[in-house]
Amino acid sequence: MDVPTYTPRHAAVPEGVVVVERASAAQDFGPKLNRTAADVVRFLMQHGEMVTATQSLSDEMMELFAAEIGAEIRLVDPGEEQEAELRKLLGIGVADDEAAPLRPPVVTVMGHVDHGKTLLLDRIRNTNVVDGEAGGITQHIGAYQVERNDRGLTFVDTPGHEAFTAMRARGAGATDIVVLVVAADDGVMPQTTEAINHAKAADVPIVVAVNKIDRPNADIQRTVAGVAEQGLVPEAWGGETIYCEVSALTGQGIEELLDQILLVAEVEDLRASPDGRAGGVVLESNLDIGRGPVATVLVQRGTLRIGDPMVAGASWGRVRALLDDRGEAVDEAVPSTPVQVLGLSEVAIAGDAFAVAPNEKIAGRVADTREHWQRLSSLGREAHALSGGAKLEDLFTRIQRGETATLNAIVKADVNGSLEAVTESLRKLETGDVRIAIVHRGVGGITENDIQLASASNATIIGFNVRPDRKAREAADVENVEIRTYEIIYKLLEDVSSAMVGMLAPDITEVVTGEAEVRQIFRIPRVGAVAGCYVQNGTITRGAKVRFLRDGTIIWKGAVNSLKRFTDDVREVQSGYECGIGLSNFQDLKAGDIIETFEEREVARTLDG
Ligand code: GDP
Repeated sequence: MDVPTYTPRHAAVPEGVVVVERASAAQDFGPKLNRTAADVVRFLMQHGEMVTATQSLSDEMMELFAAEIGAEIRLVDPGEEQEAELRKLLGIGVADDEAAPLRPPVVTVMGHVDHGKTLLLDRIRNTNVVDGEAGGITQHIGAYQVERNDRGLTFVDTPGHEAFTAMRARGAGATDIVVLVVAADDGVMPQTTEAINHAKAADVPIVVAVNKIDRPNADIQRTVAGVAEQGLVPEAWGGETIYCEVSALTGQGIEELLDQILLVAEVEDLRASPDGRAGGVVLESNLDIGRGPVATVLVQRGTLRIGDPMVAGASWGRVRALLDDRGEAVDEAVPSTPVQVLGLSEVAIAGDAFAVAPNEKIAGRVADTREHWQRLSSLGREAHALSGGAKLEDLFTRIQRGETATLNAIVKADVNGSLEAVTESLRKLETGDVRIAIVHRGVGGITENDIQLASASNATIIGFNVRPDRKAREAADVENVEIRTYEIIYKLLEDVSSAMVGMLAPDITEVVTGEAEVRQIFRIPRVGAVAGCYVQNGTITRGAKVRFLRDGTIIWKGAVNSLKRFTDDVREVQSGYECGIGLSNFQDLKAGDIIETFEEREVARTLDG
């Protein structure tokens, strides 16, 4: 094919850094750099990228062209610049008024499953409702406010740690204080550690509630020691963390817990002015058949009133009604109050900031503009993955650009010993120029939670002898989070240290080709164990390389030795079908295990390679 050659013309390149929106088309991008759309298209064609003048360009395409003509660009998300303008228009980001009155602390309860979060939230609510109307109708709106000695406390019922961090990832820090619930009869469990790391990453003070002390097998001392080991040293031992011993079941210690939370709040000096237009964050939102879109919001500043024109993300409207946490209609809501809002045009997204606009026209305009950008930015994502995440291979470039001097990492490993070994060795790689910050570490497979945390803290996930499950892989795709998994510690360290000096070698990536769940084990004389499986994803092929996973941890590697549909030998089995899989010399099969097949492909490095 005769490809026209691109010869750089010598029109002046704009001076300084040119701000360019991600997913721009050549017709907008070219002129910004004093070039025509045709220049851009021709150049990209030469590099094997067929695009039209109106098609969205990927980050790499734009960087490539800019580098070619010697221009420097900074890519911003569509609307990022204008968003700042809009926020000004809405009056967001005005500095906190130091003279403003104190406001109630916003508290989130976190901890391992079954350690008593729900019961604790219920107990606090039932014994401390504002006007003592205990036993009245309690409406679940995802947050409530209680009173203790004339001071308010707001509790947010976050459905999970990932929701907490997803909100933070979207810039909506709704929580002032985290209460970490640890059952005294169970001690520190994986989600306890996870909760601590999420709270630490958010830089939010933690109050530890040692729960279930009524249980005969409660071991308070051991529990406290376990939590202290995670870096939360109790005051009694010279540390700074407050511990409370409670029973959500009997109510013992609950009042003291509230007092301690208020004490922390006092130190934090949380203030907000009830004057001016309201702003805050959306906690929950759903479509109610009778009432239309309903959003539970937390007011963070100003006062929200009926009739206010409000914007939440890309939805807007006049506030038609406000309902408090008991479902009663109210006229207004002041800072730290959760309320349900009726009257928005559509369902807002949890974590969206909301603000009251000066008038309805501006509210509508802001919402429409945002919707436009959201569409653009999802287009851009489809055109090519945005390179916003913290990729290991970009580390050196980012260091050189002065954007970072830290590699944020989340480390997951199969057992405690290897986790220690990996994190210790990683620490030893630190140089004067590059720091390695371990945002979270834990034993077990890579989960959706890890992805959310990585996305919020710009971290790369490093797995040692563990794998991401399907939900984690999907979330990683959406959030553009990098997961690197290793089975040899030396290879792991080599990659990280090479990345630090910009010499990451071409990578062999493994592409998962199929996933089958073991349902039943058949022991066949002279053949051994055969796994009766259900193919959940992709295709299982005879001879394919296999990783055998139990709870996300790799326990064996090898190949598919035999593959059967009923009694027939087959070459491959597609997802949605059952099959029998024999794994050469591996016999330790259990129902619920996952057989993951994969292929190795070499991936050439792009651009800066
Ligand atoms: P969550 O998963 O953390 O929300 O835990 P739940 O609040 O659902 O509690 C799990 C189980 O532990 C429930 O059966 C509760 O009744 C019980 N539980 C919670 N707190 C206590 C407590 O302080 N003492 C006792 N004995 N049981 C408790």
